[in-house]
Amino acid sequence: MPVYDYEAVSCEASCAHCAKGFEIVQSIHDPRLTACPKCGSPIRRVITAPAIGRSKSKLDDRAKSAGFTKLKRLGKGEYEKMY
Ligand SMILES: [Zn+2]
Repeated sequence: MPVYDYEAVSCEASCAHCAKGFEIVQSIHDPRLTACPKCGSPIRRVITAPAIGRSKSKLDDRAKSAGFTKLKRLGKGEYEKMY
């Protein structure tokens, strides 16, 4: 059965379970989840590549891409790219 990734829609309204996202095994016939099974906060399904190099490398890629788009505010309308 396929594994689906979910994450909280809002960071404020989430518990430890859904705040950083979680994986759940579902039948392709099951309806997609719209709420966290633990706290009931709205969640959305995250589309991920098939099960090759899952988990750790995926998180690393996420952190890397987040770092590349991080901008530090220098002053009025001035931004410096952070690497
Ligand atoms: Zn939750």
